[in-house]
Amino acid sequence: MITDRKLRLTICGNHIFTLRENTLSRIRSAKKILIQVPEGFKPCATRVAEAILAKTNDSEVDIDASSNFGSCLLDLEIVREYDLVIHFGHDRYPLWEPPENVAFEDVVYEPELNKEVLEELIRDLKERKLRRVLLYVTQQHKNLYGTIRKFLLMHGITVVNDKRKSLAFGCVYPDIAVLSNSVDAVIMVSGGSFHSLGAGISLGGLKPVFKVDPYRCTYVDMTETVRKVLKVRFGKIFLANKASNWLIIAGIAGQYRPDVVSAVKQAIVAKGGKYFIARCMYLTNATLANLDNPHIDSIVVTSCPRLPIDDLSDYHKPVLTPGEALYVLGKHHSYRFPW
Ligand code: SF4
Repeated sequence: MITDRKLRLTICGNHIFTLRENTLSRIRSAKKILIQVPEGFKPCATRVAEAILAKTNDSEVDIDASSNFGSCLLDLEIVREYDLVIHFGHDRYPLWEPPENVAFEDVVYEPELNKEVLEELIRDLKERKLRRVLLYVTQQHKNLYGTIRKFLLMHGITVVNDKRKSLAFGCVYPDIAVLSNSVDAVIMVSGGSFHSLGAGISLGGLKPVFKVDPYRCTYVDMTETVRKVLKVRFGKIFLANKASNWLIIAGIAGQYRPDVVSAVKQAIVAKGGKYFIARCMYLTNATLANLDNPHIDSIVVTSCPRLPIDDLSDYHKPVLTPGEALYVLGKHHSYRFPW
């Protein structure tokens, strides 16, 4: 009987690449396999490919060298060429049904989290009377959710979301809008600032966000950083207020959101504006500058809603997320992220 049990495939640095039993059985019957790993793990790709090759009957195992920013953005042309695509380091993007030949597998950060970091965080939470929290983790730290939750509970901090609703993506924080009124703060377990910033923006800066970084063994109060980013976002919103001609960027695969595109289109027309839609896989500053012209007043990105915030906030015209555009266009009555 094949179960969903996870097996260790290989180790690269401090990370363990795992495989579900189910995927192992798919590997055995696949003739052509493609492996995909996130950007930071690219140097591990040959090791992973070798480990998979050892489990096949002499099948072809190729590495996808293209950028891999998330499970939302797969090149469907390439995916179609393979019997099995093993995508490591991201769970399935919850807002999209990917092709059936794609399997999503974990990359787990192995070292345990230093308890002193949590003790300091708990002291800080208690001093500030923050007793109820939402606890989110990223894929590499899914294994820490249980330990951290237990530790917080033991020290009188209530975690309101359960494990099934704890995995964060840069634009998806399960139940954050529903539960935000019943919590005092958010704790995000992740390296870097990308996910904690997204959580703070999703809350419109209204609740404190703490980042617990298992790589650096630190915790950081991100609240001020979130506020600074939101100030910039409100500046962009103000500038877009008089826009009549809009460029709507639409993506592909899981970043193609017809409902969001349609909502933005309708809102622009209702306000007497005009729009053009441009499709692209990866939107960069250079791609946008190439397409831009003096008739375009404002741009809204419906593919990855983090691009306007993280990559394009220096662009010389306002580049908005869908939520921001719908706010400017009068469809939302307050700031909303992502749509
Ligand atoms: S933030 Fe962008 S890259 Fe990340 S899951 Fe959302 S759409 Fe995909």
